[in-house]
Amino acid sequence: MAQLILLPDKERSVLRRHPWLFAGSVGRLVGQARPGDTVEVLSDRLKPLGRGAYSPASQVRARMWSFDPAEGIDDVFFKRRVAQAVARRQALADLRDQDGLRLIHGESDGLPGIIADRYGDTVVIQLTSAGAEKWRRAIVNALVQATGCSRVYERSDSEVRAMEGLAPVTGWVHGEAPAAPVTVLEHGVRMAVDVEGGHKTGFYLDQRDNRRLLGELAAGRAVLNCFCYTGGFSLQALAGGAASVLSIDSSGPALDQARANLALNPQLPAARAEWLEADVFQALRDFRKAGRQFDLIVLDPPKFAPSAAHAERAARAYRDINMLGFKLLTPGGLMMTYSCSGGIGIELFQRIVARAALETGRDARILKRLQGSADHPVGLACPEGEYLKGLLVQAD
Ligand code: SAH
Repeated sequence: MAQLILLPDKERSVLRRHPWLFAGSVGRLVGQARPGDTVEVLSDRLKPLGRGAYSPASQVRARMWSFDPAEGIDDVFFKRRVAQAVARRQALADLRDQDGLRLIHGESDGLPGIIADRYGDTVVIQLTSAGAEKWRRAIVNALVQATGCSRVYERSDSEVRAMEGLAPVTGWVHGEAPAAPVTVLEHGVRMAVDVEGGHKTGFYLDQRDNRRLLGELAAGRAVLNCFCYTGGFSLQALAGGAASVLSIDSSGPALDQARANLALNPQLPAARAEWLEADVFQALRDFRKAGRQFDLIVLDPPKFAPSAAHAERAARAYRDINMLGFKLLTPGGLMMTYSCSGGIGIELFQRIVARAALETGRDARILKRLQGSADHPVGLACPEGEYLKGLLVQAD
């Protein structure tokens, strides 16, 4: 095994069990290692620190698999780590019976570069690092063994792969394409999941608990769901007894899927749902001019700031969208507002929303801070994994 030797004083983050070794911390490689190969990581004084996956093309030159210098990185290692991740979710009553569940959440589950989502009997994996790529077979086998699922689809088409020098990979890696569309049952609502063509692995599992909360708040309210994608929040609002649900997205295919999802749930009052293909910023301005108001608004926009470098421009977009939201909210109305930008922390997000309230003359308060569901945990040693944050606010 090749040895990756750090520069002086650069072992601190590894000692804090942070899994990323940036190029600037790395001194030299002793021996030969190809992308994804396991390397022994040592301090400049040659103290063994653990083992990681080497990635010469990436600014993250290595990702730690283990902080135990003696732990072997082999099929058995992946079997163990994958089984642990699955067992962790089994141990939580809230997650145990979920039909749609994130099984592996990368760094937070000790498996950097690996995402696995289960939708019923189908698992979708996304591999985003050279190390994960190398161990594909072991990961797939371990998932099949730990879940008993009959098929696994690979959706490794995220742009971040390019930073690791990896080309996109998609396809069935275990079992075959199912005869019927993949679906999940979420809080009593059936949703189809397009694992091959949908966003991410097909569905936004991270909002599961927040969609339930919306359902609990919706009774009798006129709901506006902005950036609705395939209608997850919309359908929970209908299930919760909303008076009306207007959903907006700029993607025609997402809205087609949303309508199809509604049709999958004949128990829901379809006549109360309206779908609008539009740019949310424009549509909300038009509603403002027309004097339209809503009692409960969801703002779940796409990532405006993929990294801290985009934070300033993103902050303006968040401010604009939240100002529009406040303008359309009835007195006493509720707004669920989110940011899934890693580059915008909760404190900054809260300041942005506060400013939007101030600038629209609304007195508002936070009823609840919102985050991703518990199957998207945040490793204490790797807080960079936190991306989804939200606020439930009420405005006078
Ligand atoms: N709330 C959804 C996930 C939202 S993902 C859920 O629970 O499943 C963000 C969505 O915003 C995507 O569907 C994307 O098509 C849409 N989108 C991005 N920019 C937009 C814009 N300017 N106007 C309207 N929709 C937009």
